[in-house]
Amino acid sequence: MGNNAEIVARGQAVLYPNYRPLPVSMQRGQGSTLFDAEGKAYLDMAAGVAVCGVGHAHPVLAKAIAEQAAELLHVSNYVYNTVNVELAEQLTRRSGYARALFCNSGGEANEAMLKLARHHFYGQGDTGRTRMVAFTHAFHGRTLGALSLTGTAKYREGFGVPGGVTHVAYGDLEAVRATMGPDVAAIVCEVVQGEGGVIAAPEGFLAGLRELADAHGALLLFDEVQTGIGRLGHFLGAEAFGVRADAVSLAKGLGGGFPIGALLTTEALAGALPPGTHGTTFGGNALACRAALAVLSILDDENLIAEVGRKGELLRDLLDELGVRFPRVVEGNRGLGLLRGLVLREGLLARDCLGLALEQGVLLTAAGERVLRFTPPLVVTDAELRRAVEAIAVVLAKLDEKLQPA
Ligand SMILES: *Cc1c(COP(=O)(O)O)cnc(C)c1O
Repeated sequence: MGNNAEIVARGQAVLYPNYRPLPVSMQRGQGSTLFDAEGKAYLDMAAGVAVCGVGHAHPVLAKAIAEQAAELLHVSNYVYNTVNVELAEQLTRRSGYARALFCNSGGEANEAMLKLARHHFYGQGDTGRTRMVAFTHAFHGRTLGALSLTGTAKYREGFGVPGGVTHVAYGDLEAVRATMGPDVAAIVCEVVQGEGGVIAAPEGFLAGLRELADAHGALLLFDEVQTGIGRLGHFLGAEAFGVRADAVSLAKGLGGGFPIGALLTTEALAGALPPGTHGTTFGGNALACRAALAVLSILDDENLIAEVGRKGELLRDLLDELGVRFPRVVEGNRGLGLLRGLVLREGLLARDCLGLALEQGVLLTAAGERVLRFTPPLVVTDAELRRAVEAIAVVLAKLDEKLQPA
């Protein structure tokens, strides 16, 4: 064991300073608990940004990765490998899509999705159909193509982001209708905006997008990198809204912490990216696919997705109580399933609460300016949710005290 201050100082000396990490170094995890370099325990309400759905150090996942590592890590996409075929079978069976394209991250899955949409129409001779419609507060990743879809200026500025994207207010169906035309290849959206501040699609919005896309011959593409793999209580988050896209990108929760991304498409789009037009060296490698298969089996064996709705409602109720106790600090809470945001009052910064939460033994992330985001592992227990929210109450009480003139 080391100590936090020493590891933080070493990290600050050599890590590229593009992040602003909290001054703690995590050493190991177990279920929904993390332990830092000094052995202090934290309730993990972040799960690595909605990644570690089956919790930390799950024995089934750890064993699967170890066994696969001893058997075959990687062979490239010049040959088949048994594990990736099996994962494609599982994902298509569970989602109702026909095809799976593997990659290594959410950004990459979205790059593939963008290329698929444009190349689909290009391949049909419809070369003028290249424009994308995306949304304010949208987050689709940090690669340049994905950035072109991202709706937040600070992520985009200064990077020479490619154009061809119209940004429209999330939830505003009329604005989408007004911008549709024969040059639109696809509408791209999150079913619940995660990074943008945990904003669920309003009633009827996604169904409306489906109709508009169909009416204009465009594709509807869902970025389910954060909402997929059970986070909203369904295998795909879109199932909660009863709407199907033409393709869906997945990543975060898929590998349970092992990097893997996937694009799922309908059979109608199977010809959009013929051999030679798109690929990746690592995508679909046996180790990543074995990790994802283990995650899927754990989700089944522990009935985790079916429990998300109930756990999410408990979390919502607990956060509602915080709103009642601290009305001057809390505006409300929102989200779906185990993707929930506690919205702070105007003028308060969520980022400033993360260190205080850590002191109280809870790891959280911020989403947008003033939303504290809860994305616990799907294995989280009711008691852990209660303990975490009670610790956040202490943080809110401190904020409330500061507001109070002595
Ligand atoms: C995290 C996220 C991404 C980017 O995923 P990376 O693996 O960081 O590239 C894309 N879209 C959404 C909705 C996300 O939440």
